[in-house]
Amino acid sequence: MYIHRNLQWCVQSMRKFTLRFCLPWLVGLIVTACAFVTTGWLVKLDHNIHDQQDKAQVEARINYLTSRIQLALDDNLIIIEALESLLLLQNDIDENDFQVLATRFLSTRTTIRQAQLAPDAIVKYIYPIIDGNKVIGLNLRKIPEQREVVERSIAMKEMIMAGPLDLIQGGRGVIARQPLYNREDTETKFWGFITLIIDLDRIFKETGLALSDELATYAIRGSDAKGKQGDVFFGSTSVFEDEYLSGFIEVPGGFWQLSARLDNDEHVHGVPMSYLTGWATLGSLILGLLSGFTCSLLNKTYQRSISDPLTSLFNRQHFRELADTEIHRAQRYQLPLSIIMIDLDFFKQINDNYGHQAGDYVLQKSAKIIESMLRVGDIAARYGGEEFIVLLPHSDEADAQACAERIRKALNTKVKLRGSYHALSASLGCATLDSSYANYDQLVSGADDALFLAKDRGRNIVITAKQL
Ligand code: GH3
Ligand code: MG
Ligand code: MG
Repeated sequence: MYIHRNLQWCVQSMRKFTLRFCLPWLVGLIVTACAFVTTGWLVKLDHNIHDQQDKAQVEARINYLTSRIQLALDDNLIIIEALESLLLLQNDIDENDFQVLATRFLSTRTTIRQAQLAPDAIVKYIYPIIDGNKVIGLNLRKIPEQREVVERSIAMKEMIMAGPLDLIQGGRGVIARQPLYNREDTETKFWGFITLIIDLDRIFKETGLALSDELATYAIRGSDAKGKQGDVFFGSTSVFEDEYLSGFIEVPGGFWQLSARLDNDEHVHGVPMSYLTGWATLGSLILGLLSGFTCSLLNKTYQRSISDPLTSLFNRQHFRELADTEIHRAQRYQLPLSIIMIDLDFFKQINDNYGHQAGDYVLQKSAKIIESMLRVGDIAARYGGEEFIVLLPHSDEADAQACAERIRKALNTKVKLRGSYHALSASLGCATLDSSYANYDQLVSGADDALFLAKDRGRNIVITAKQL
């Protein structure tokens, strides 16, 4: 029985502690978590929007660059076709003719490094005539890096683009090579090549590809007609290792893939993400602390408004509110309910003999004793002065009498005041909900009358309203 009561007291104390101290800070913790998740989500959302904007911007730049490079290449390749047509008309061509033709077509083309005419695949004429001694007389079939392309071009009778290659003339370029044929009756016979060496670096510079971009890193690799990927000849190979955006440039015999990898932009509105996350965490913590503090303050104010400062029991006003609710519930479900009024005997003597502080101490101790005698769900309050009141839901007259008796016995103890022991006792009056005591006022009045009778009969006893 004793263990059971102590356990109940522990449970009630823990509940009070949780409600008074843990709950406000739990609210603070929840607010922190919510704020943290929300701000984190907002920062991420903002970052994603930025990412999308960056992606769209890079896509637009890729489209722009691919079309400009395509235009620049096509513009050069069309010259080959024009030269081819003219050469077909004029079979026997000398150095002078070639220079005139080439000057006419190529003098304004800044991206063509050199034009070559190579009858039988041996370079005979070049334009402009710079470093002629290095190139003239060169048998294209004998250049190891170009042999395969040269043979393929002759076999396929198609223009093929090779490179980019390190040029004999110095620098890097792509070589567009058009095989020419003599049509003699039914037979077509390989005549030679017309070749354009295109200055790729210049194309990249003129189209703006070479300009740096803070959003992405660009690279180009070649692919043959079957899509087999070749070497990266502009930018870094690392672009193709991660996720990248691409555009395609058609070239004779394949295509080029211009790709861009978005550089990890850990910024939103120019502020680093780590800063934003840091601020969001700090802000959430401060918000959580403030809400925890506010809740704790509100809770303290509320607790103060409903409890008695000396004993920490509920005060009379709050007890009435709780009792009214319980009485209505008991009446609706026809459940028993009782009230006990407790008045300490000869309390004035304690004040007079030991002082008010001792009196206060006795009041606090009595409150604790009363509380420890109650079940979970019973409600105790300080009614005023040295009077206490207890509400016992689900208790009929016999239960109330038994409970009152337990409280009486527990209060009938000795307390040490100023070095000497003083015997305590209390008188108790009970009233149980029935037709005569049908509301709060009637119950309190019944219990009070019973208490009065208990005082009259010599104190330290329990009287029920039924005994009146
Ligand atoms: P009875 O047995 O008839 O109840 O006698 P009693 O002395 O207990 O009752 P009485 O009504 O004569 O005296 C109650 C005293 O309680 C009077 C008052 O000064 C004292 N009192 C009321 N509230 C407090 C308090 O908060 N602290 C202290 N120390 N004394 C209080
Ligand atoms: Mg009194
Ligand atoms: Mg008294």
